[in-house]
Amino acid sequence: MDTPALTGGRAHPGPTWQRLGRLSRDQLERLVGRVGATPVAAVTVTVDGRRCEVLLKLEGHNPGGSVKDRTALSLVRGLETAGTLHPGDTLVESTSGNLGVALAFIARARGYRFHAVVDPHVTAENLSTLRELGALVDVVDSADENGNYLRARLRRVRELCAADPRYVWTDQYGSAHNPLAHYATTAPELDAQAGGRLQAVVVAVSTGGTLAGIGRYFRERRPGVRIVAVDVAGSVALAGRPAPRLLTGIGSSQRSRFATDDLYDETVFVSELTAVATVATVRERTGIRIGGSGGAALAAAAVVARDHGLSRVACVCPDDGRKYEGSLFNDRWLREHGLADWSGTLPFTDLTR
Ligand code: PMP
Repeated sequence: MDTPALTGGRAHPGPTWQRLGRLSRDQLERLVGRVGATPVAAVTVTVDGRRCEVLLKLEGHNPGGSVKDRTALSLVRGLETAGTLHPGDTLVESTSGNLGVALAFIARARGYRFHAVVDPHVTAENLSTLRELGALVDVVDSADENGNYLRARLRRVRELCAADPRYVWTDQYGSAHNPLAHYATTAPELDAQAGGRLQAVVVAVSTGGTLAGIGRYFRERRPGVRIVAVDVAGSVALAGRPAPRLLTGIGSSQRSRFATDDLYDETVFVSELTAVATVATVRERTGIRIGGSGGAALAAAAVVARDHGLSRVACVCPDDGRKYEGSLFNDRWLREHGLADWSGTLPFTDLTR
């Protein structure tokens, strides 16, 4: 299939993040200057006989491969501006992967060390990128009763900071510089790429930074735009009851501190099966690669278009499918996790470019 038409922003020629470990500090610093300004691709979904154009904001085109490049850069700049971070200090963060890769690459470019506290759900692809970028990596192994590791990861971050005064926690869960990244860059880019004509923006939630930043921007500038939060069953990021989850990136085992009620209109819960089926369908029908949280957002966009009779919406696709070849795009993995039978799970009848 030929390459999908991308509009606006800068398309990255390939999976840059897989080569990051081989680049010099100067080359990495140049890539820091290329964070953001991602392209969009338009697809059309048909739901109940009605067509809706969905703009996919393809965050996989960031140099570190995900939306978290924006967050990482904003967190680091916030600490630099506050005078809390000095050359040679060690940044530390609890991360499921994407923020880790982003921080590792920015830290290396800027002369900081980086210590990632991850858990066994981290993908092999992310783990090797972290190591190639010289990050120290701790894999915590004590899960809570639902198989989540967040509490253990945060405990380890606190221990590391207490033991060494040169450790600085970026704190993606609480720093105002997380939502600010999306208020200042992701949202205005999307607004401009859509020619100011969006009816809704659909965003998957983990820390809630992306949702809160985009939500605040549109509330202030275009209050008519519907802001939709997307979560998965088992996540308590917005409400919900805790249960085991498989997809990385979307959902959380703690409540989002950023996603306050005033910043969005509704939450759509998407099953992991629907998210996976949507990811595969987009790739098959359009050649566009998105990850699981982007699949969840696109599925939710179809539901929202149907419920509110919308014809032009956007959704954020936080990363692309390249780092999920061993899971989301692997038939054996899908079968082992009960995610291989997609009959009746798609919320749209057709999807085209
Ligand atoms: N999807 C993916 C793939 C992610 O890595 C993240 C960030 N963990 C999100 C969605 C959610 O973003 P946020 O933390 O801003 O809510």
